[in-house]
Amino acid sequence: MRTITLINGDGIGPEISEAVVKIIEASGLKIDWDVQTAGSDVIEAEGTPLPERVLNSIKKNKIALKAPVTTPIGKGFRSVNVQLRKSLDLFANLRPCKNLAGVKTRFDGVDIVVVRENTEDLYAGIERQVDEDTAESIKIITRKASERICRFAFDYAVKNNRGEVCVVTKANIMKLSDGLFLDTYREVAKDYPNINQREILVDNLCMQLVQNPKQFDVLVLPNLYGDIVSDLCAGLIGGLGIAQGANIGEDCAVFEPVHGSAPDIKGQNKANPTALLLSAVEMLRYIGENGYAARIEEALHKTLNSGKMTADLGGNLSTTEFTDEIIKNL
Ligand code: ATP
Repeated sequence: MRTITLINGDGIGPEISEAVVKIIEASGLKIDWDVQTAGSDVIEAEGTPLPERVLNSIKKNKIALKAPVTTPIGKGFRSVNVQLRKSLDLFANLRPCKNLAGVKTRFDGVDIVVVRENTEDLYAGIERQVDEDTAESIKIITRKASERICRFAFDYAVKNNRGEVCVVTKANIMKLSDGLFLDTYREVAKDYPNINQREILVDNLCMQLVQNPKQFDVLVLPNLYGDIVSDLCAGLIGGLGIAQGANIGEDCAVFEPVHGSAPDIKGQNKANPTALLLSAVEMLRYIGENGYAARIEEALHKTLNSGKMTADLGGNLSTTEFTDEIIKNL
């Protein structure tokens, strides 16, 4: 039996984790969950929202499913998510954005995979106060990190039968930093003659995405553009309740929804578990359990398609009712 780390998070985290574990169990797949608590609930006892034991568990098991974890603001703790990505060198942030049958959105046929570089760019955290009226943040782009993410995007395209990898930059203005990202993409692309290449500037991409998103396939972006564009793409397919994600490194991978811990609806049995469930489905594919992944995804589609959904999507089911419907459809 495969052991997988489960970080059940805080806020709505425990409710949606319970739902997803129940659905996977009902599919017949046996997983030994190594449950690791993290976030604001453990600070008092352990002095940090991300205890070493959590990192050790992921390093040992190589795979984690993670519900949202809150980093308390203004208490001097580094973001749990950023720390996790850094400590485990999870360099690729993967966000597949695909329409779900039954969920009403402005466009049909959206099927975009956003591949965001996760370790550098303006998120390297190198900032300084130059003087009282001036602050400076440094944008770091390296050939090594750019090559790693571009190769990841092309490999993903090959493995998942995607036709195109489009690179997104603002290389006309940031000629050196974004220019290096673009040049590296062009170099890497030479090794993938069967995948279509495309280059677009990030401002034009945003306009095209809200006018005609169907034209895009796999996008590869430096960190900041990737962060913004992936939320835009999540909006295209129906918002946070269904937006899945993953952070992948050479050794470990952490699968997690895009949304936060939604403290406003905590403990009310209202949260939509779909984003975490789809993250888990992607995780099952990653570990080679394609059959179970397909079955669970089909049951979810069937449920949504019959109009059964949680309130964030316009339905009237509670988290547990929605979970039971999915299980019935397995
Ligand atoms: P963070 O900064 O931790 O990412 P956030 O403040 O950006 O968090 P979320 O916690 O993601 O935001 O919540 C934003 C809004 O979306 C809230 O109103 C929340 O209730 C709603 N929301 C988020 N996730 C879900 C979900 N799974 N089901 C239903 N509503 C959700």
